[in-house]
Amino acid sequence: MKKTPVAKTLPIVHYPDPILRKISQGLTEKEIVSQKIRDLAFDLEKTMLEKDGAGLAAPQVGENVRMVVLRHDNQSLFLINPKITKKSRGKITEQEGCLSIIDSSGEIIYHPIERHKKVTCLYFDLKGKKKKIQAEDPLLARAIQHEVDHLDGILFIDYLEPNKK
Ligand SMILES: [Zn+2]
Repeated sequence: MKKTPVAKTLPIVHYPDPILRKISQGLTEKEIVSQKIRDLAFDLEKTMLEKDGAGLAAPQVGENVRMVVLRHDNQSLFLINPKITKKSRGKITEQEGCLSIIDSSGEIIYHPIERHKKVTCLYFDLKGKKKKIQAEDPLLARAIQHEVDHLDGILFIDYLEPNKK
C-alpha cells in the first residue's frame, strides 16, 4: 500500500449549496479500500477535528459519496455505506447544529431537534469489513442519524416548523 499523505483540512460546503441536497453514491468494495477513499477519510477526520465537530459527512466537503466520520469516546469512527436498520421507539429532543449551517457572521446555528434515542447501524469500515454498531448512547445515536441524513440530502433544519426556518 502507498504511503498515506498528510491529511488536509478541506473547505466546508455551506447551506444552501445544492451539493448538500444530492443523494450520495454508495461505494463498491473496491472503492472502499482505494487510496482515494482512504485519503478522503483522513481529510474528513482532520477537517472535523479542526472545526471541533461531532461528525462530518463527505458531501459537506463536496464529495457525494456515502462516507461519514464521527467523534465518539475520543476516537474517530468511520462509517462507509451506513444503513440504519433499527430505531428505538423512544425519542429525545436536544439542541443540534451542523458545520454546514451557519449564520451571516459564520456562527453555527443550533435548534432543538427530536431524534430516536437509540439506533442500530450497519456499515463498512475502512478495510471494507462489514460492521454493526448499536448506539445506546443518545448522543452517538443522534450523530449517526444526523450524518446519515446528509448522505440522503437531508439537513436538520428540514425537521423544523416552517416558521422557524
Ligand atoms: Zn451536519
